[in-house]
Amino acid sequence: MSTLRAQPLSIVGAGLAGSLLALLLARRGFAVTLYDRRPDPRSAPPAAGRSINLALAARGIRALERAGIMQQIEPLLTVMRGRMVHERSGKAALQLYGQTPDEVIYSVSRAELNRALLEAALLHEEVDVKFEQACLGANLEADTLSFQDTASGLTYEKPLAPAIAADGAGSAVRASLVAAQAIAVREESLDHDYKELTIPAQAGRHALERACLHIWPRGQFMLIALPNSDGSFTATLFLPRTGAASFGALTTPAQIHAFCTREFPDAVPLMPDLVDEFLHHPLGLLGTVHSAPWHIGGRSLLLGDAAHAIVPFHGQGMNAAFEDCLVFDELLDAHDNWASLFDAFERRRRPNAEAIAQMSLENYVEMRATVLDPAFKRHEALAFELERAFPERFIRRYSMVMFHPEIPYTEALRRGRIQAEILAAIDRDPNCAAALIHARLPPLR
Ligand SMILES: Cc1cc2nc3c(=O)[nH]c(=O)nc-3n(C[C@H](O)[C@H](O)[C@H](O)COP(=O)(O)OP(=O)(O)OC[C@H]3O[C@@H](n4cnc5c(N)ncnc54)[C@H](O)[C@@H]3O)c2cc1C
Repeated sequence: MSTLRAQPLSIVGAGLAGSLLALLLARRGFAVTLYDRRPDPRSAPPAAGRSINLALAARGIRALERAGIMQQIEPLLTVMRGRMVHERSGKAALQLYGQTPDEVIYSVSRAELNRALLEAALLHEEVDVKFEQACLGANLEADTLSFQDTASGLTYEKPLAPAIAADGAGSAVRASLVAAQAIAVREESLDHDYKELTIPAQAGRHALERACLHIWPRGQFMLIALPNSDGSFTATLFLPRTGAASFGALTTPAQIHAFCTREFPDAVPLMPDLVDEFLHHPLGLLGTVHSAPWHIGGRSLLLGDAAHAIVPFHGQGMNAAFEDCLVFDELLDAHDNWASLFDAFERRRRPNAEAIAQMSLENYVEMRATVLDPAFKRHEALAFELERAFPERFIRRYSMVMFHPEIPYTEALRRGRIQAEILAAIDRDPNCAAALIHARLPPLR
């Protein structure tokens, strides 16, 4: 431990994961310098085109609690108890996320959360943040990180080791390590993009039921909306890139208005700036990043989206990145050199990152299509019943991911598959439930 603390650490990226990790490290007395290419978010408006609000769930909350910052975050949260599914007819029905009042998730502003984390980290004199410093990559031969001051354009080098790359899905550090053939990466882009739209507050109040995540599932595409604390909702339209119903096909105000009115008739009257926002807001790209290895000895480590960006359909990218920070913090107790800590981190986290990447892709199909399927609704109702009847053994996969941080993502994926088979078997023989559950699902707790 003491040998680790002797070396000042660099963290590239003062986003969600970088700021939380800096805070956790500072609480242990580590000297940390954060670098970010953005201006200081405490004084600048948030960058356009990033998701404005995010779903925070138990894994993220557990990490925030470990950093002792949950009290400051709580006022920023808006509870979401379930998903309100809006049909084309305008009919809407709430599907609760959990069984109990505490099985809920929360909507939080990315900018406010990032600001709170940075402010908490900066209360520690061990933390220094350098904004408007874009990392250009790592040079393994020279053992340096290269930066460019975005205001002056001047470039300079800093010693590499040890550096944590928390510079997000498009990580410059990762790209430089790939170019040096030190790591390999596979980036799978989704053929659906997204655009953020606004449902403004009406006389200071939410225009839709506030305490839920709204979904307009339409088979091949969907609109969702998460509440903000100022009474507005941020809506996100996910559409294929090409085809009849796609961003490529919707280019004129008339096309956009006609399409949205046909597909989301109850949402359009709540979005007065729909066409203008659709035409002018940037198109966001989505994909999954698979990289390996995540570390170069004890010199650098990828963490958060830089290591494992995922599609957003389980609302887990930030939660997983926060869980990375928590695991990193836990491992500090057991390691006295960076190489062994980074190695243990990767061994523990990479299988979990792969599992949540897969579940996130699967959840897109569930959100945009299967939520309306009568068979899905029947299985959901049955799964809730089984959860009540066998609480030690049967926990719905959504629940394992969102409410049970003590269950690793790998285990949620594995048990989720078994549970899907059990539900299918119960369809064929309703009397087999208890025997199958006892045989195939050992108690969890
Ligand atoms: C549309 C959408 C919706 C989402 N919804 C959810 C959700 O509901 N719940 C959830 O848990 N997750 C969600 N996510 C995922 C979540 O946004 C990410 O997983 C999370 O932001 C990862 O945190 P991070 O710190 O690793 O990366 P980021 O938050 O991206 O932070 C990276 C930081 O690095 C900085 N940076 C980048 N490049 C450089 C460079 N070259 N030099 C210096 N600094 C650099 C950036 O300015 C930024 O501050 C969503 C993502 C998207 C796209």
